[in-house]
Amino acid sequence: MNFYDSDHMSNLLNDHGYQTSEDIDCADLVILNTCHIRDKAAEKMYSDLGRIKKNYENNNLTKPIIAVAGCVAQAEGKEIIKRSPWVDLVVGPQAYTDLPKLLKKINSNQKKREINLNFPEVPKFDLLNFDKKRNKVSDYVTIQEGCDKFCSFCVVPFTRGPEYSRSRKSILKEIEKMAQNGVKEIILLGQNVNAWRDDTNGSETYNLGCLIQDIAKIEEILSIRYTTSHPLDMDLELIKAHKDVDKLMPYLHLPIQSGSDDILKKMNRRHTVSEYLKIIELVRKYCEDIAISSDFIVGHPGETEEDHKKTLDIINEVKFASSYSFMYSERPGTKSAEFNELVAENVKKTRLYEIQNSLNHHQLVFNKNMENLDFPILITDKNKNNQFVGRSPYNQTVYICEENLKVKKHYEKLIGSMINVKIIKSNQNSLLGAFAKNA
Ligand code: SAH
Ligand code: SF4
Repeated sequence: MNFYDSDHMSNLLNDHGYQTSEDIDCADLVILNTCHIRDKAAEKMYSDLGRIKKNYENNNLTKPIIAVAGCVAQAEGKEIIKRSPWVDLVVGPQAYTDLPKLLKKINSNQKKREINLNFPEVPKFDLLNFDKKRNKVSDYVTIQEGCDKFCSFCVVPFTRGPEYSRSRKSILKEIEKMAQNGVKEIILLGQNVNAWRDDTNGSETYNLGCLIQDIAKIEEILSIRYTTSHPLDMDLELIKAHKDVDKLMPYLHLPIQSGSDDILKKMNRRHTVSEYLKIIELVRKYCEDIAISSDFIVGHPGETEEDHKKTLDIINEVKFASSYSFMYSERPGTKSAEFNELVAENVKKTRLYEIQNSLNHHQLVFNKNMENLDFPILITDKNKNNQFVGRSPYNQTVYICEENLKVKKHYEKLIGSMINVKIIKSNQNSLLGAFAKNA
């Protein structure tokens, strides 16, 4: 989501005489777009701010305007300027459409500091510029932001604000523009993407399943993905879309966080393990080969060895195709930060290691099962090793050698095409393929 926001910040500033630069030494403006989800991400921002200062001081460069955007900006506000007084501007994730105005103020008075953490009445999506070409084959579209679920460990409801669904009109307008600009794959984004709905048509529900059906009607769009879904918002229309919409990839990221009902309760996830398993069963009924992935938090306050074992059990039961796993990180202002029974850091580390070992095992098996299969892959890039790059329907990165391709001279045209690829080898985190004989 931060990548999406960063792209749109740069589009907005483009219209006001700025262009993006790869070289920090000649930048007039540096924006750090930040994440607050875990402690490490927030600390990284402060060390980056220090590094930026050292760079212009040690190299006798003119000080650029330094801005902090994103969720750390929202959460820490003027604390950032207190701790790093060389920061000129702090802007929250819902207020960045004001960047040109704020920069104008700073440019007219170099000593001024600006902070805007508003949740504006006019949603930012109504003010973004969708005309700019981003030269991407696969690109993100934020459709839903914020969250009202208040899981006890999580800062999102505080930093991104309440749950908000963008209008279907605005989303389809952006996607149509992207399709005209060469985008072939759309990745729909939301903190709880499947909570997205458009209620403007009175009682008729128009939810994510319906939106996916409509996006699939756009001819140029060849592939659709979405992330992240919440178990409580998994409705039948979305599940059925996996059967009915060919362009919707068979991949579902559905975090469970823990395999223990006691911990899920402490986390305020509001569902049990068996309810989660029922959803997986239903999804697999409609889409047999779907790849399921999850997020896990290890060492949430109160997690016992027995709870941890239950998480290992659920991993072995679902056999996730891939997953993200994190050590619990205490976030200021959240309910979990008030809990006792903290889990020691070394215990968290051991549990994370065990969980990742098990997740890696299932990922390796899942990847191995792809060997000798062939399926259509949207080619998105070419890497430094001259391999074409794409993603399998199941969201695995696939590197493709060129040997089997008949029409070698049309290489350049391959980026952006959907081509049959045969998987010849599998690794822990990727697959190696060759263009199939019929490519
Ligand atoms: N809305 C999604 C997840 C969004 S946050 C959901 O509810 O599933 C992305 C992931 O960050 C979470 O799934 C969780 O695993 C992790 N995360 C969030 N807060 C965390 C914390 N305080 N410590 C460690 N991991 C955290
Ligand atoms: Fe955070 Fe997701 Fe829970 Fe919302 S549902 S509070 S984003 S973990």
